[in-house]
Parts: sequence; C-alpha cells; structure tokens
Amino acid sequence: MSTHPTLADARLLCDAAGSLVERALDRAREITDGGKRIDDHQVLTERVAYAATQTRAAVELIDAVAAAERGGLAEITCAASVADLTRSLIGRLEPSLDDLGLGDAALEQTFPTETRSVLRSAGHESVFRLIGRHCAETRGRNDWPLDDLHEQVREAVRAFAEKEIAPEAERIHRNDDLVPESFIRGMAELGYFGLAVPERYGGSEMGNLAMVLTTEELSRASLAAAGSLITRPEILTKALVQGGTEAQKALWLPKIAAGEIMVGISVTEPDIGSDVAGVKCRAEKRGDDWVINGPKSWCTFAGRANVLAVLTRTDADPNQGAKGLSLFIVPKDRFDGHDFVMKQPGGGRLVGKADATPGYRGMHSFTLNFENYLVPGANLVGGEQGIGRGFYLQMAGFAAGRLQTGGRACGLAQAALEKTAEYVVDRVQFARPIAEYQLTQYTLGRMTAMLAASRAITYAAALAMDADERSAAPLAAQAKLLSCDMAVELTQLGQLLHGGWGYAEEYPISRYVVDAQVLPIFEGVKPVLELKVVGRSLLSD
Ligand SMILES: Cc1cc2nc3c(=O)[nH]c(=O)nc-3n(C[C@H](O)[C@H](O)[C@H](O)COP(=O)(O)OP(=O)(O)OC[C@H]3O[C@@H](n4cnc5c(N)ncnc54)[C@H](O)[C@@H]3O)c2cc1C
Repeated sequence: MSTHPTLADARLLCDAAGSLVERALDRAREITDGGKRIDDHQVLTERVAYAATQTRAAVELIDAVAAAERGGLAEITCAASVADLTRSLIGRLEPSLDDLGLGDAALEQTFPTETRSVLRSAGHESVFRLIGRHCAETRGRNDWPLDDLHEQVREAVRAFAEKEIAPEAERIHRNDDLVPESFIRGMAELGYFGLAVPERYGGSEMGNLAMVLTTEELSRASLAAAGSLITRPEILTKALVQGGTEAQKALWLPKIAAGEIMVGISVTEPDIGSDVAGVKCRAEKRGDDWVINGPKSWCTFAGRANVLAVLTRTDADPNQGAKGLSLFIVPKDRFDGHDFVMKQPGGGRLVGKADATPGYRGMHSFTLNFENYLVPGANLVGGEQGIGRGFYLQMAGFAAGRLQTGGRACGLAQAALEKTAEYVVDRVQFARPIAEYQLTQYTLGRMTAMLAASRAITYAAALAMDADERSAAPLAAQAKLLSCDMAVELTQLGQLLHGGWGYAEEYPISRYVVDAQVLPIFEGVKPVLELKVVGRSLLSD
C-alpha cells in the first residue's frame, strides 16, 4: 500500500454503510411494527441498532476530522476507523439480511466492487500499522483538537488528575479504600461538581462537552475514585432542574455545585434491575412526611453520600407501573466503612453493606434496606406535583449519566492506550522492542482508531445535549453503548500486549481491564440499552 486513505475514502465508506443501515432500519421498522414488536425480533433489533450506532460514530468522526482540518494522520486514522466500523457492521447485519428481506443484493448494491476495494485499502493492515507506530512514538497521547476554552478545561483537569488522583489510584483499587476526602475537596474547589448546575444556583453551567472532558480526564487517572464522582450529582442535578420545585432547586443545587454534599442514586433493587418501572421499595405518607420501606441494591457511594436520590413506589397499586413511582432526596449521615447502620430518633433505620467487586473500587456499591425510614415531605422531588413523576425524572438523569459514561469509557481507554504504548516501546523480546513487531503496531493502530470513533460520537452527543437534552438522549445512549464496548475491548487488547505483566496487579492495565467490565453493565445494561433505548428510538415511527 503506497497511498494513504483520505477523508474522501472515509465518506465513501460511510455513505455505503449508511445506505445499507438505512435499508435495514426501514425493513426492521416494518417487521417490528414501528418498534412495537421489538421483543418478537430482539436479535434482529440488536443487530440493526448496533450497526446504526456504528454508522453514527463514523459520521461524527468524519465531521470532527473535517472540521479540524488537520489532514495527515488524523485523516488516515479517521478512514481506518470508518473502515473498521464498516467491516464490523457488515458482519453484524449479514446474518440477518434474509430475515430483513434484503438478501445479498443489498450488500452488492451498497458495496459495489469499487467500494469494497476502498474498504480493503482504507482498512488495510499497513494503515493500522502506520497509526500504531505513531501511537507508540507519541506514547498514545490524546491531542484531539478542541477550541481554546475546552482545551483549557482539559489541560486543567489533566494536570489536577495527574498530580492528585493518579498517584493514589492503585492503592485505592488494591485495598478497596474509600475515595479520599482530598479528591472531593480538590474537585469541589475546581468546580467540577457544578458543571451541570445552572449559574443562578451556584454552578458554572459550562455545558456538556466540558463535563465530558472533565469526566474523561478524571477517569484516565481513576475511573472509580475520580471519574465517576461527578456522575451521581449530575444525575440528581438533571432530575432537579427538570422537575424540582423552586425551593428544592434553591436548597440542593448550590450544595451539589459546591461539593458540600455527596450523592448516591438508588434505583436498582435485588429483584428489579432493568425493569425500572417495576420498582417495589415503598414510600407511604405519614402526616406531612413519608416513610420508606424496602431493599435496594447496587447503590454506589451510599456510605459516604450525604443524600440518596431514591426511586420509590408511592402508589400501592402495582398496575400503575412507572406512573406509581416518585423520587425522594433522602438525607443520611456520612459513613466511611463497608457497612453502616443509620438510626433515626423515631426508630427508622437504613442498613447498608457494600458488595465486594473485582473492580470499580473506591466508592463502594451498597445493598441497602430501608426500615420505616422517615423522609420530610419537602424532599419529594417536585412536591405534590412530583407524585408519580419519579420514573420520568430519573430517566432525565440517566440520559446525562449515559453521556457521562461515554466520557468515562473514553478516559479509561485513553489510560490503557497510553500505558500500552509505553509498555510496548520498553519491552524487548527476541532482541527487539515489541513495538517494532507488525502485529503489535497493527493492534495499537486498531486501538487508536476504535477510541477515535467513540470519542467522536461522545463529544457529538455532548454538543447535541446542549442543544436539546430530550431529543439527544438516544444519541447519548449510543455514545454510551459504543464507548463502553470499546473500552472493554481496548483494555483487553492492551492487557494482551502486556503479556503476563498485564495480569499483574502491579501494572495498571490489570485495573483498567476489571474497571472497564462494569461499563456495559450500569447506566442501562447493554442488551437492554440496545433494545429499549437505542432500538426503540430508531424503530419507532
Ligand atoms: C458496580 C455497579 C454499580 C452500580 N451502581 C448503581 C447505582 O449507583 N445506583 C443504581 O440504582 N444501580 C446501580 N447499579 C445497578 C445497575 O444499574 C444494574 O445492574 C443494571 O441496571 C442492570 O440491572 P440488573 O443487574 O438487575 O440486570 P437485569 O435487569 O437482571 O439484566 C440481566 C440480563 O438479563 C437480560 N435481560 C433483561 N431484560 C431483558 C429484556 N427485556 N430483553 C432481553 N434481555 C433482557 C440481559 O441480558 C441483561 O444483561 C450498579 C451496578 C454495578 C454492577
């Protein structure tokens, strides 16, 4: 291969992929009756939804690279990444072409001979090797172009995270220690908890891209002990902005923005995960107050948190489903250990015990039990108007949480890419640094290209959320879907390039691998996100 692939090649492939996916989507809409019968066609829906997500990432990557006018390696990486996405989505749709009523003809029409030839050349191994060599030379440094303001944000967070967070990350992971207060204080001073809070409530309201960049750089230092710290306040902030009373916004938002209170989000229950509308934990009115009873599970940071945003059932009739749910801001004392009992003067109790996990350590995720736990009436989000609106408020928060999780995944993958690039340059086998071997370069090149696509769709989702949060929610879900899978694959590729040392706790890549594995699980477990969020939004009329 002598000539390098160009942006024009990337566009050609993206158009071809887009047209195949459009045809698949059209047929899937018919087959699922506008998304009403997705459950009768789950596998097909999953394939189409994922392929559409890959095409969207390709579109966003091309747009970003074209806008930056950087040419050179950015253009080559873009074309290779689009080729990689295209190959993957063809392979994904191919088994369903007959079910979709498209057959081989659709592939031949959308990918004629000359397009297939571009696919081979743009995605040629030599292209990935070139990208991989550059990645090794630059040690994987992230120099994604940003405007001045966002560049400053990224630089500032990077400096803070490298100085304050990174040196502690390994200790926290290995000992399953709690996030140090110094992290919280530092992040509070720098305003990281107020990025999504409107200015009039003490935040900086810097927009979603600044939030994603902040999350990304913190996650690069530690997913669990820093990068995920602002997700919870962010989710509650969005719920409050959307549906809180004026008094609630005035009371809680400034405290969130200042990092004065830490937040836990409590939706999941031992028997209720993806089927959020089925939440059973009960809140019943007692005078002006409410009393909460029932178990919850997987409430991250519940020990340290000063308040929990708890989704409860306020309507005794289970047939009310999502309409019977309300959201409460539940105050509690702060506890530092792996278990706690919070006792109220009137006899109410909240019992918490952290579940041990292989990764994502630092905040601890708790199983909780509410026992006649009293919550002031003023803490029902939205007041009386908020009764029955908890599900919708929670979903508003989750859209933001998913966007942020796209950023978390990119930051973690970035860390893995950098450490791997360093390692392959240093490691010598058969008398040569392993970075000099073709297969190493190819793998590093693919890792770089995969990360570029995820970053592009995540940043695009951030900007779309700034414009219109509601309509951009499916894009945020797509960003989360693709980026989390990417982080899992990329960290594992990085681990393999580390050989045996990749399995040693001493090397951070082993932490990245176990941390990445949680990403496709929370904020909407992958299969459910594909079907009920991405698939539904793409297939509904
Ligand atoms: C480390 C960690 C931290 C977490 N932190 C929080 C937190 O702070 N707050 C909180 O509320 N929750 C939290 N969670 C919970 C997380 O959001 C849930 O695990 C997630 O929503 C999935 O729910 P589940 O585990 O009950 O899985 P389930 O809903 O039981 O799903 C399991 C599997 O069943 C299949 N499945 C389920 N439904 C369908 C369907 N309709 N169609 C096809 N397949 C289906 C899928 O394969 C799915 O992967 C956390 C989880 C972890 C692991």
